[in-house]
Amino acid sequence: MLMKIRQPIVTVLGHVDHGKTTILDRIRRTSVQRKEAGGITQHIGATEVPIDVIEKISKPLAKMFPIKFKIPGLLFIDTPGHEAFTNLRKRGGSIADIAVLVVDVNQGFQPQTHEAIEILKTYKVPFIVAANKVDAITGWQSKEDEPITLALKRQRQDVLQDLDMKIYQIVASLAEYGFDSERYDRVTDFTKQIVIIPTSGKTGEGIPELLLYIAGLAQKYLEKRLEIDENAPGKGVILEVKEETGIGTTLTTILYDGVMRRGDRIIFGTKNGPKETRIRALLKPKPLDEIRDPRDKFRGVEEVHAAAGIKIAAPDIDDALPGSPVIVVRNEEDRKKALEKLQKELESISFDTDEIGLIVKADTLGSLEALVRILKEHGYPVKKAEIGNVSKKDVMEADVVRQKDRYLGVIIAFNVGLEPGVGEEAFRLRVPIIKENVVYRILERYEQWREEEREREKKEKLSKLILPGKFQILPGYVFRRSDPAIVGVRVLAGVIKPKYPVMREDGKPVGTIKGMQKDRKSVDEAHEGDELAVAIQGPLVGRHIFEGDILYTDVPNDHIRTLLRNRHLIPDSYVELLQEIMEVKKKRGEEGE
Ligand code: GDP
Repeated sequence: MLMKIRQPIVTVLGHVDHGKTTILDRIRRTSVQRKEAGGITQHIGATEVPIDVIEKISKPLAKMFPIKFKIPGLLFIDTPGHEAFTNLRKRGGSIADIAVLVVDVNQGFQPQTHEAIEILKTYKVPFIVAANKVDAITGWQSKEDEPITLALKRQRQDVLQDLDMKIYQIVASLAEYGFDSERYDRVTDFTKQIVIIPTSGKTGEGIPELLLYIAGLAQKYLEKRLEIDENAPGKGVILEVKEETGIGTTLTTILYDGVMRRGDRIIFGTKNGPKETRIRALLKPKPLDEIRDPRDKFRGVEEVHAAAGIKIAAPDIDDALPGSPVIVVRNEEDRKKALEKLQKELESISFDTDEIGLIVKADTLGSLEALVRILKEHGYPVKKAEIGNVSKKDVMEADVVRQKDRYLGVIIAFNVGLEPGVGEEAFRLRVPIIKENVVYRILERYEQWREEEREREKKEKLSKLILPGKFQILPGYVFRRSDPAIVGVRVLAGVIKPKYPVMREDGKPVGTIKGMQKDRKSVDEAHEGDELAVAIQGPLVGRHIFEGDILYTDVPNDHIRTLLRNRHLIPDSYVELLQEIMEVKKKRGEEGE
């Protein structure tokens, strides 16, 4: 066995626009600038920062951080964000060793920052916070690529205070998740406190410390995890399945253990279970100056050692699943074991499901698993989780669920489409399909839908209730005295509708509205300010009611209660009118009805 320490795999997460891409670009640029082009290890889907680059750029800090590094460098995953992160999955966790959570220091935590923390917590990935965009703090004096330790020494007192206020905002937000954290230079216990480093992706300030701390922490606390047998059969995860001109389908893969060689037999996951093939080519990017034809971007290599980002070309891999493992097998026994293990793993995602629950469809194993986790964590059961487009069968299953719990009879379609005719079928059965391609928004959209449904249901219920109304018989507008009485009225408040019972100002019931006409046309409701003719079955004008009388709708007590319980669904003026109506009804009570 040839043991070695591999590079820690680092991912960058955080809210949109907080600077993830800018920080990664800055790190990439740094590692290229500080190294003679020939010496750089090329990767696909990841960027390696060799350890001597980190040592070089953190030289001004060497006295403060006397670390002797054993790790060969850091391997940054090129695509930031939690979508990419979820595909770095490994049974029971993540292949990411450490994460950088980017927070715009001027904005603090935003929805996706919370989401990122939830994800990091579930996958148990340690992280460092980059309190980014310090250059945008009012009064900040920038110097390109300066270590933040030196930059802090040059800032004005009030600027430093402002920065600290902002950092303690982040500390407070992290505390809500039970994390203890501190500015990097005030951390006393690295095993317990999360390190916050002020950075600027734009000016490069703080990037030296960011790299130094990631490397230092990874080496100190993750050493065991990073120790691998260099010649063991390779293990990786598929980040992306991609068609390349002239090559065919390729698997962008992060190799995190062992070695992969051209000609190796590999096992990987598909929608229909594990599959095997043989590596035809292992591809790395060509250095920029060697690319003559844009289609000729890669060069083949004989073998690759972990950790590395690599492209695998092989026959029959079109249906490989992003997020699934790629495992090298060298003998029959390993092959059997690997197939069995992968089969179980692929099943477990759909196995652990509930009797009644949502139907979740997604395009990758990683997003599917993350979605199910997130939904379940928030108490929403999942009946089925599958890779692929939404089918008629899914709609039928959701419809069955809907009969039992209409709030769960829903299909969640993440980054997938509908098979032909499915949209129509879902519409016919009234099965909602929530289509979305951002993980964190799924929960938001589903919960929003639930809320809207609940409101709609309530409104429907309310529409069956008798609402408060108050109107006055206009003097000189008696068209018929009885059976039914037809009078001109003005609605003073609330609403009146046919079939509503009506009472007088002293609480005495006088009859029921039979019909209403405005400008000779029947109407089924009238509101405050409307003038119209109303037919009332019951009273005789001149005996029970008179010109100028004020009348109210006779709202039953249980309707009043329901309305007041749902007062956010009715206008404030209705609430006031209901109180008035209760007073009127009380008078009737005193007289013994
Ligand atoms: P992402 O969505 O998290 O990847 O964010 P980007 O890296 O795309 O950055 C979003 C915007 O913020 C861009 O306009 C960047 O130029 C800007 N930005 C990123 N980092 C910094 C920084 O450190 N300082 C300042 N002033 N602007 C930044």
